[in-house]
Amino acid sequence: MDKKPIPILDLGPEIEAIWDELMGAVAGVLKSGQFIMGPNVKAFECEVAEYFGVKHAVGVNSGTDALLIALRTAGVGKGDEVITTPFTFFATAEVVSMLEAVPVFVDIDPVTFNMRPDLVERAITSRTKAILPVHLFGQGAEMDPIMSLAKEHGLRVIEDVAQAFGGEYKGKKLGTIGHAGCFSFFPSKTLGGFGDGGLMTTDDDRMAEMARMLRAHGSRRKYYNEVVGYNSRLDELQAAMLRVKLQLIDQMNEGRREVARRYGEMLKGLSAVTPPREVTGGKHVYHQYTIRVAGGERDQVKAALAAEGINTMIYYPLPVHRLPVYDGQFPAMPETERASGEVLSLPIWPSMDEGLQGRVVEALTRSLLS
Ligand SMILES: *Cc1c(COP(=O)(O)O)cnc(C)c1O
Repeated sequence: MDKKPIPILDLGPEIEAIWDELMGAVAGVLKSGQFIMGPNVKAFECEVAEYFGVKHAVGVNSGTDALLIALRTAGVGKGDEVITTPFTFFATAEVVSMLEAVPVFVDIDPVTFNMRPDLVERAITSRTKAILPVHLFGQGAEMDPIMSLAKEHGLRVIEDVAQAFGGEYKGKKLGTIGHAGCFSFFPSKTLGGFGDGGLMTTDDDRMAEMARMLRAHGSRRKYYNEVVGYNSRLDELQAAMLRVKLQLIDQMNEGRREVARRYGEMLKGLSAVTPPREVTGGKHVYHQYTIRVAGGERDQVKAALAAEGINTMIYYPLPVHRLPVYDGQFPAMPETERASGEVLSLPIWPSMDEGLQGRVVEALTRSLLS
């Protein structure tokens, strides 16, 4: 039996398949001598805008900065409230705190792990400025009711699409539904680069102009700085390589969906395990394939898999409202806390083969019997 360890994510085959194109892209940049805001950044922004059918795509140096800059373009500042989910990576709330605004957490739907729109409605106050839904693990949050609430109350909606490049909600691409979409090109994301990178999409001319200004030290024209901004440009080298990967994003996402479909088949009948469910009308791109393990068995299952060389991850062991940085400031979120104790993300990547999946599921089954 093949006992090679199984990582949670293997980027190797994906890179191998486009090695020559990537090297060509790198060589082109090195020869051009243009490393900051060169032609590849511009071309990548155009190609992404075209892919999404939006007016503007603004490259920045991380997903975190995309969120920070988008919130600023939405006018979020000191004392404003931003309604978001506590079941996410810290960056989502961190940017709100960076701006001295207040994150207001609402609990999640146990099936999708995404924020519940009915709770968003209850959380709206006169200080609410924006709603910040996260499309967790690659599946879209309930955007229709969120957009209706935003319209009714005059709020901006900033989508955190860091985990869901190419995913859809009711036939619409995630990141094109709210006033801005924020993407990350961190290497493990569905469109991963080879270092840090990020991007903001929007149809709003004013928000796009402000984002372009903020990423370049608050200047539209070099050395005529108008506001305090950031040094947050997308690297030319990253842009050149991301252009190669963008061509393949739909194919990669289809690969992930196929792996997820097979896991779903294989996990049928394992009553202690709840596989992820794609909600109707959506296109889940499975940045993570996250199951729930009931009965307090999750940590034992994780350890048993690790003993067989199978790497799994817990996203996220502590919900954001329970992190040391915020501890004590926020009320309990029962569904989020229950999810933190039950979730387990299994190995997944676009070309993961059935044999490896079989090993994961066999080990998982054994661990539940022991
Ligand atoms: C990865 C991630 C971010 C941050 O992106 P970086 O590029 O790492 O800064 C923000 N939100 C979510 C949900 C993420 O998964």
